Amino acid sequence: MTANKKLLFLPGDGIGPEVMGEVRRVIDWMAKRRTAAFDITDGLVGGACYDAHGCAVTDETVADAAAADAVLLGAVGGPKWDDVPREHRPEAGLLRLRKDLDLFANLRPAVVFDALAEASTLKLDVVKGLDIMIVRETTAGVYFGTPRGIEDLPGGGSKGFDTQVYTDAEVDRVARLAFDLARKRSSKVHSVEKANVMESGVFWRREVARVHRDFPDVELHNMYADNCAMQLVRYPRQFDVIVTDNLFGDLLSDCAAMLTGSLGMLPSATLGPTDSSGRRAAMYEPVHGSAPDIAGKHMANPLATILSFAMCLRYSFDMGEDADLIEQAVQNVLSGGLRTADIMQDGMAKVSTTVMGESLVAELDKLIGA
Ligand code: NAD
Repeated sequence: MTANKKLLFLPGDGIGPEVMGEVRRVIDWMAKRRTAAFDITDGLVGGACYDAHGCAVTDETVADAAAADAVLLGAVGGPKWDDVPREHRPEAGLLRLRKDLDLFANLRPAVVFDALAEASTLKLDVVKGLDIMIVRETTAGVYFGTPRGIEDLPGGGSKGFDTQVYTDAEVDRVARLAFDLARKRSSKVHSVEKANVMESGVFWRREVARVHRDFPDVELHNMYADNCAMQLVRYPRQFDVIVTDNLFGDLLSDCAAMLTGSLGMLPSATLGPTDSSGRRAAMYEPVHGSAPDIAGKHMANPLATILSFAMCLRYSFDMGEDADLIEQAVQNVLSGGLRTADIMQDGMAKVSTTVMGESLVAELDKLIGA
């Protein structure tokens, strides 16, 4: 029996608490069947926190997040908080957590489950078996670079401008993480930029090549971002790990997400630096939002959040075997014909959030022969 792992649970708003409830079910199963115990602290974030404390996240919760081995987040936001001051908007809670924990790499897998391959807008033979990992730098680049602004020009007229800037240290840490990740997958990295037209692209390519010298066993391909977008819809299976900057990563990860067919199936991880004891700051959350249109209706698909927990097991706790089990259980419930409303197909059985969670746990039992 290993030491208890410290998790901070931040369910958030809308369907957040519903989908996080199903993660708790999986955690209970792990305590019972896999002797893996977690110490869970609960906290508020987003609109729920604003209602209770007048801000989107409290200092105490940020401190809890820093002290935890990993943070698991549901979703934030909803029309109820549309008119609160910008600095207290639900998303401000997420941004503060990402910033204070220095979460610099967002990992978005795009996996096509066999049973859902038909749900993709692309042809079955293009997406079947797809398994890509997009690593997006999230703390620098054009979203944060200065100078930025909207200004009047001296001779009349005006201009809007942003600055794309990366330091060697910023490229180094995200590239290193991507190469490390690739070693646990198919040992192939595509580094994506626009070195043909941007100085920061030339720099990105140079720095990635430098880091690559420490990973000679990993294949490195450089690709322009526009070509990458095209290749993602032409022949996506050529990719394993894609590493790219903040802006291109934003676009390409959404593009890759749609290859898989449903928002309710997409997990993510955002990772930060490793401390002196080897512990890496990390936050895991589904890609989808708080889905206010279906909140409280027992319709939410909990699988993206459960798959985010599987990522947490793999990347924060080195429990790859347990992560594999959960991913296999997801495959099996889908192959067995269970569907929440968002992934419903003809001839399948429509189930609620809870029934999906219960069925997944029953499948986990079957997988370990319990
Ligand atoms: P959304 O992802 O919440 O919903 C888009 C559509 O997908 C909706 O029809 C919704 O019902 C459906 N959907 C999403 N997740 C689902 C699930 N697990 N199961 C079944 N159906 C699901 O995006 P939106 O409607 O643009 O935003 C709603 C709120 O969520 C907004 O306040 C937005 O700011 C916020 N948001 C939060 C995050 C986050 O917390 N990381 C991300 C995106 C949006």
